[in-house]
Amino acid sequence: MTREYDFDLITIGAGSGGVRASRVAAQYGARVAIVEERYLGGTCVNVGCIPKKLFVYASEFSEAFEDAAGFGWTAPKSGFDWRKLIANKNHEIERLNGVYGKLLTDSGVRIINGRAVVIEPHTVAIGNERLTSRYILVATGGWPTIPEIPGAELAISSNEAFFLERFPSRAIIVGGGYIGVEFAGIFHGLGAKVTLVHRGPLFLRGFDDDLRQALAGEMRKREIELHFNSLVEKIEGNRAGVRVRLSDGASLEADLIMFATGRAPNSHGLGLEQAGIALDAKGAVMVDRYSCSSVPNIYAVGDVTNRRNLTPVAIAEGRAVAETLFNGKPMSVEYEDVPSAVFSQPPIGTVGLTEAEARERYGEVDVYKSSFRPLKHTVSGRDERAFMKLVVDPKTDRVVGCHMMGPDAGEIIQGLAIALKCNATKAQFDATIGIHPSAAEEFVTMRTKS
Ligand SMILES: Cc1cc2nc3c(=O)[nH]c(=O)nc-3n(C[C@H](O)[C@H](O)[C@H](O)COP(=O)(O)OP(=O)(O)OC[C@H]3O[C@@H](n4cnc5c(N)ncnc54)[C@H](O)[C@@H]3O)c2cc1C
Repeated sequence: MTREYDFDLITIGAGSGGVRASRVAAQYGARVAIVEERYLGGTCVNVGCIPKKLFVYASEFSEAFEDAAGFGWTAPKSGFDWRKLIANKNHEIERLNGVYGKLLTDSGVRIINGRAVVIEPHTVAIGNERLTSRYILVATGGWPTIPEIPGAELAISSNEAFFLERFPSRAIIVGGGYIGVEFAGIFHGLGAKVTLVHRGPLFLRGFDDDLRQALAGEMRKREIELHFNSLVEKIEGNRAGVRVRLSDGASLEADLIMFATGRAPNSHGLGLEQAGIALDAKGAVMVDRYSCSSVPNIYAVGDVTNRRNLTPVAIAEGRAVAETLFNGKPMSVEYEDVPSAVFSQPPIGTVGLTEAEARERYGEVDVYKSSFRPLKHTVSGRDERAFMKLVVDPKTDRVVGCHMMGPDAGEIIQGLAIALKCNATKAQFDATIGIHPSAAEEFVTMRTKS
């Protein structure tokens, strides 16, 4: 590598994508620096996937205690300590921050704390320091947006939800994406009275319609109030309590209002436009299939490019950039059949095309559906159903979509994602022996088209 520059790669942002790209590049012998202004591990580790899943685990105990009674247990009266949960979560996140730091330094990556700005295509400024690099990787992620409505300053985003001093007894969650739905479940499970407000007729746009309906039904059974077709127009009150006016005329009161109405690419104030980097209308860095921006030596991965805003996708993009630039193997990421989960109660797992997408692409499709009471709830007495669905292209017999709502949906769908990657046919699903008794076996025993 040339010594013309201080580094071969400077990565801006030590989140999921930036860390992976930097580590792999350094393993190939590149001289790498990574600049991070906040916390190692980025959104996922600090205010995203990991603390969220810990909160989801915490929230599920209330139902587990109730379900235990059907199995003969007499549980002592349960109590919940929010501060203890936050403290234990923070402890784990600090441990992970350390793990990320060690992984980077062990790979030979120099970690620089501070805010980086691109001042020229080969130069980055961190405060007064100027560093040059052959390549620059923008991996600055995204940031929650809250609409500009009267009283918006009284609302929090998911960032603050992870550090609340006080647990609310009534919470309003605004937004029907997966983050809003998951936080509705978290606050409900931990004991709050929850209302979810969403501007559309049903939440989780982009997921299969049957799953969306099924989850809405299960959430209503849990007495989570779903307020669809409605926008928040005004918030009054103070941080201790708010009154919220909705566009349909309704008025709600709560101790907390959290917006999960979207995230914007973190691309402003970074000097990107001045360096000649093209951004789209939403501020996302525009890149080609190798994640190269409009400036040939500047690359971008992860949420700042607004492709599929998921951690494993950012990691795959980061790795591909390192392979392309430092291993002589141009690599791009495939965005077909990216599995994902919603850690709701019950959870959702999905991979491939929804029924509507498949009909658009293939015309006629075969659909197999199953709805059943999970074995556990035959004895727990909980009124909960699981739902599964396969979408098949009849011309090739290929399974093009697998969708599930029910226990362990994320874990089950991860395995099926491999089958879809291998172009598995319905006949191969049918030829697979099930594991009994499990919910997953239903995916290989669905024989009747709906
Ligand atoms: C509440 C929530 C839950 C989520 N749950 C899931 C989930 O269950 N599964 C899943 O796959 N994904 C989930 N995600 C999405 C996931 O967190 C992101 O897709 C992923 O973190 C994107 O990685 P990234 O590398 O693009 O950016 P990030 O992880 O956001 O990292 C960007 C880093 O860049 C730093 N930075 C920004 N600007 C500068 C600068 N100028 N100088 C220096 N540093 C800078 C930031 O401080 C940050 O650390 C969740 C997100 C949220 C908010």
